[in-house]
Amino acid sequence: MKVACFSTKSYDERFLSAVAKDRAHEFQFLEARLDASTVRLAEGSEAVCVFVNDDLNAEVIAGLAGVGVRFIVLRCAGFNNVDIDAATKHRILVARVPRYSPHAVAEHTVGLILTLNRKIHKAYNRVRENNFSIDGLLGFDLNGRSFGIIGTGAIGIVLAKIMNGFGCDVLLFDPYPSDQARVWGRYTELEELLRSSDLVSLHCPLTEDTYHLINADRVEQMKPGAILVNTSRGGLIDAGAVIAGLKSGHLGGVALDVYEEESGVFFEDLSQQIMQDDVLSRLMTFPNVLVTSHQAFFTQDALETIAATTLANLDAMVSNNPTDDEKENQVNAIAT
Ligand code: NAD
Repeated sequence: MKVACFSTKSYDERFLSAVAKDRAHEFQFLEARLDASTVRLAEGSEAVCVFVNDDLNAEVIAGLAGVGVRFIVLRCAGFNNVDIDAATKHRILVARVPRYSPHAVAEHTVGLILTLNRKIHKAYNRVRENNFSIDGLLGFDLNGRSFGIIGTGAIGIVLAKIMNGFGCDVLLFDPYPSDQARVWGRYTELEELLRSSDLVSLHCPLTEDTYHLINADRVEQMKPGAILVNTSRGGLIDAGAVIAGLKSGHLGGVALDVYEEESGVFFEDLSQQIMQDDVLSRLMTFPNVLVTSHQAFFTQDALETIAATTLANLDAMVSNNPTDDEKENQVNAIAT
């Protein structure tokens, strides 16, 4: 089967090619992002392979169906960028990689927190210029601090375990509490978590219910000086409300690996261009804001699993004979 692979970077090609070499699928690696203007590139392919910032809205899905695409495989867990109802209507089967490495994302989250709190990024630059002063690099102990986790699925549980190991009082919120998470922390109401936590980290999916979960009211509810961390999806945060919270000093710091308008910016080298996004530019002017470019997933282990699961999803879709795991990866079950 021919597979048009959108938003391809060199590392995608490397890891997917390694797994695909002995398989019956022929990948066409495309740098273009999938949207209404690029959908025709899928012509001649039965499947498309996409990532977080490809835009598979109803128009794009109709376009894919029009050129004969029957399968969509996501190289990621979140599928908020795919109109699932439209895919189902056009009898296009959608599969994702729900668990490639919760450790990769949880560990990057911890990296962001330690960097922001202990100002390691500033220290790195200072010592390279022979400035060995530690003035301005003051942090705080994580031990004994309250750490709030919103969303206690695969990533939230790993993070809860790690932060418990740091000696934090781990507070949890999830509409579907899990016994695995309870081992490392205690569930509270969302409001109590926001009011009590010195750090708040987001690990729920982006849905209609969670869009702008952190808005002006919720920023206000947060403990003065608290640090907000988002390695989940940009749309969970109203960036304007966060900027207001930073300007007033109510928020003590913000670490972001995702940003609502990241599409077309994150993953790209724009160093020779003028930044057009004033909100992102403003965010990056704060000394207590740390931004990474959606790299929390980016470990060798995760890319190997993503490639292997993507190929397994394609095999299962074509044979229409998925294992239980592969069935679970299929977001919309359609009898083909
Ligand atoms: P998961 O499905 O295992 O867990 C998500 C949890 O969120 C579930 O327990 C669910 O009940 C909970 N949830 C749903 N609605 C909620 C709400 N309103 N409030 C609180 N919790 C709610 O997912 P996961 O594997 O832990 O991944 C979490 C998210 O991380 C993904 O949806 C994805 O957007 C993001 N992610 C980011 C990266 C990255 O590179 N930055 C990589 C992988 C995943």
